[in-house]
Amino acid sequence: MVSIKDLHKSFGSLEVLKGVSMDIMKGEVICIIGPSGSGKSTLIRCVNALNNFQSGSILVEGQEVNDPDLDKLELRKKVGMVFQQYNLFPHKTAIENIMMAPLLVLKDKKEDVERLARGLIKKVRLEGKEDSYPGELSGGQQQRVAIARSLAMNPDVMLFDEVTAALDPETVNEVLQTIRDLAEDGMTCILVTHEMGFAREVADHIYFTDRGVIVEHGPPATFFDAAKDPRTIAFLGQIL
Ligand code: ATP
Ligand code: MG
Repeated sequence: MVSIKDLHKSFGSLEVLKGVSMDIMKGEVICIIGPSGSGKSTLIRCVNALNNFQSGSILVEGQEVNDPDLDKLELRKKVGMVFQQYNLFPHKTAIENIMMAPLLVLKDKKEDVERLARGLIKKVRLEGKEDSYPGELSGGQQQRVAIARSLAMNPDVMLFDEVTAALDPETVNEVLQTIRDLAEDGMTCILVTHEMGFAREVADHIYFTDRGVIVEHGPPATFFDAAKDPRTIAFLGQIL
């Protein structure tokens, strides 16, 4: 589904990713954890071509992301991304935010898009908030609109970059619940997160990055209870 091989990425003379490889199968949930500045955001931004990279390969459903002829719009239909900052359009309601891309990019029929958007509102558990503006919603509710907006393009894989990091503690769980629901539906998910409890419970595989390399990876039970590398152990010691 997503196959990353020996990825190298620099910003000018700063080498941020130094040969990263990982494979994500259909329906898997992968969590990437690691210290600030270790290259987590850079890595997942490469997957939907928000960042270019110097060498290595990323295949998404068999399509090479580094191909100069890549149609980025086509790629981004397949790869949804949600950020820490949800960036909803403030003067559009929740349902209008969700409907925009399918209407404008896919040029689907309005009735069909509206039906789809109502289904997605239900999926992210926001029934009754269809006509609310972002300013009338809590941070967690806005983030769930942002997730629904991304799902409206019917992606094959979803990227989440610390989507709960800016939220009040009491709304974190509702967003994590939405992601848990997606995972249960079989959505392939790549998450950068500091939510260790969530990672342990929901992830199929955890990757720990430090200074541009994957130091250690494994299924949650092994990763959390039997980490071997001193850098992983030190990080988990600080965060758990
Ligand atoms: P955090 O946990 O703080 O979000 P991160 O692991 O996501 O950190 P990245 O955002 O991927 O880290 O950044 C990795 C390194 O690349 C950092 O040193 C950062 O300063 C640098 N970097 C990121 N984006 C750019 C850019 N557009 N131009 C130059 N340097 C950048
Ligand atoms: Mg980051």
